[in-house]
Amino acid sequence: MTETEIPEDHPRYASLVTRHRIEAGVEKGITSKQGLIAQGRGEAFDYLLGERTLPSADAAERAAAATLLCADHPVLSVNGNVAALAPAEIVDLAAAVDADIEVNLFNHTDERVRRIADHLREHGADEVKGLAGDGEIPGLDHARGTVDADGIEAADVVVVPLEDGDRAEALDAMGKTEIVVDLNPGSRSPRTADIPIIDNLIRAVPNVTAHARDLADAPASRRDAIDSFDADEALAEAEAAIREGSFGMPDDAAADGDASNADIAD
Ligand code: ATP
Ligand code: MG
Repeated sequence: MTETEIPEDHPRYASLVTRHRIEAGVEKGITSKQGLIAQGRGEAFDYLLGERTLPSADAAERAAAATLLCADHPVLSVNGNVAALAPAEIVDLAAAVDADIEVNLFNHTDERVRRIADHLREHGADEVKGLAGDGEIPGLDHARGTVDADGIEAADVVVVPLEDGDRAEALDAMGKTEIVVDLNPGSRSPRTADIPIIDNLIRAVPNVTAHARDLADAPASRRDAIDSFDADEALAEAEAAIREGSFGMPDDAAADGDASNADIAD
């Protein structure tokens, strides 16, 4: 089945599209087989969160947009799952906040970096970093720690969607302001982040872009978005949503549905 053959009225449409993109990413050589496993874990958490953007995630997305707009040198880090799931959305976000895009892989091969860079260019990217490999994240072995000297190494703010915990911690130790997108609020990466976004990458990236457009000419609102966001509270809210949750009901069903879910969505 191709993506366009998935019936749009299917109750799990978004989830099926996501699976399809990851599968196509593996076939195209841009997503690793490990990426399939990461996708499965993400899907399970998204199901428990009710496949919607929580109010606390929306606040995180707004704070992320404000932080990116205030940055001197923001970089969006792209791995094989991100490239398969939201290539055009990453390109849009980079344009909205004037960020670099850098391919950075946990299971690094030059071939896969090149394929991902080509894939991003097919979706409108101009410059894609990640092939120079002339910088490093201290404290990690060579394969995991290689970055571009004028990219992630020089960045003040990095967006690391679906990052593994070790690298998130090592980037934090370098003093970067980290924005992590991850559906698991218990994972080390969002717990290390300055701004944890507990949301599906597919919903999160375009929403950060929308907030960035909204905040572009509003410096006072940017400060407010950053100051009013509390990372620990957002993590706690996501955990509570999972515990009390709507167990996989999509947005509208959840809105008509049980009271516990309506409480969360308020
Ligand atoms: P660690 O504690 O080291 O961070 P981990 O379990 O997070 O370990 P991975 O196997 O790299 O390590 O997990 C991938 C993460 O990516 C999972 O937490 C999963 O929830 C998340 N994830 C997968 N797909 C998506 C997606 N589409 N959007 C957001 N997060 C996702
Ligand atoms: Mg993680």
